Amino acid sequence: MRFDTRVVRGGISPDPTTGAIVPPIAQSATFVLEEVGRDKGFDYTRSSNPSRLVLENALCSIEGAKHYAAFSSGMSAVDAVLRTLDAGDHIVSSDDVYGGVSRLFNTILTRHGFEFSYVDTSYPERVAEAIRPNTKMVWMETPTNPLLKVTDVEEIVKICKAKGIPLAVDSTFATPALLRPLELGADIVMHSTTKYLSGHNQIIGGAVLTDDPEFHEKMRYQQKSIGAIPSPFDCYLTVMGLKTLSLRMTRHCSNGMAVACYLDAHPKVAKVIYPGLESHERHEVAARQMSGFGGMISFELTGGLEAGRTLMNSLKLCALAESLGAVETMITHPATMTHADVPRDDRIARGLSDSLVRLSVGIEDPEDIIEDLAQALEKA
Ligand code: PLP
Repeated sequence: MRFDTRVVRGGISPDPTTGAIVPPIAQSATFVLEEVGRDKGFDYTRSSNPSRLVLENALCSIEGAKHYAAFSSGMSAVDAVLRTLDAGDHIVSSDDVYGGVSRLFNTILTRHGFEFSYVDTSYPERVAEAIRPNTKMVWMETPTNPLLKVTDVEEIVKICKAKGIPLAVDSTFATPALLRPLELGADIVMHSTTKYLSGHNQIIGGAVLTDDPEFHEKMRYQQKSIGAIPSPFDCYLTVMGLKTLSLRMTRHCSNGMAVACYLDAHPKVAKVIYPGLESHERHEVAARQMSGFGGMISFELTGGLEAGRTLMNSLKLCALAESLGAVETMITHPATMTHADVPRDDRIARGLSDSLVRLSVGIEDPEDIIEDLAQALEKA
């Protein structure tokens, strides 16, 4: 099956008992055994559940992965990946990552003896330089949240393979519709399924995909032992969202480009960061590596923080909200919202200014999004 067909049909067959084309929701905590030691493939939902299995099979097919473990949030998926390491292990991470990931790394995992080095992974030589004898993982986002830095995955794969270090890619912003890191040689892919994969602002969820059966066993063990698993209903909603991923991403990309060009030409806009613009530092890498530039844009106004605040408070259609990657356009102020827990000095050091505004362009009519931005920019 080609990609667009896999998105709709991959890994999902009609229910064998009823023929239902939509897999039923197995809202059950436990499953009755046929006899001692013999079940029908399921015993207890923390370990496994039919609705979760449908989701896992569907996303495996879309990402082109052999194995998928679903978690109750993107953060619990990140945590599960990192928990495969031990105290004293060192991780090289992208310097620009989602604020919750920074919080987990810097305030929780460091207390348990993990060591982190942060580098701009869009300069692969900096990753090579940061590797130490105890480096056990490279963790990267591409495009990053919120500065939309783009890293050449194949370049990082070369470095990691030479050193025998696994590469984990948080591919939340790109989605498998635009980038499939496993096909480029990465070992682990992580998604916040809260975003584009489910796509409708209904659930919180996470995914860890890999071709490595041993690593996958560790993910299964974490699901069973820690219990950060999605509910059957959330799995069902995610599967329903996945089916339109390709269509939605096509529209997110075309709307993203239209809005980025509009902002780029506006006299009150000082800077636009969008991988699809030639002014983006790694536009060439994004054009080669991704099959579209996505719907995420970050920008700054000439009037700085105050103008940005006025803009965000004046929007009528675009929602001022924490999340991203859903059908509705959402605008966020990273410094006070998604990245508020990153100490200000760290934020400034990585280039995340107080005046940066992040826009998740939805799939509405692009003219309506632009008109809303235009009326708010007039006031800003
Ligand atoms: N990774 C990225 C790139 C994100 O943007 C987010 C959330 O915004 C997460 C991970 C965490 O995902 P969740 O909110 O589903 O826990």
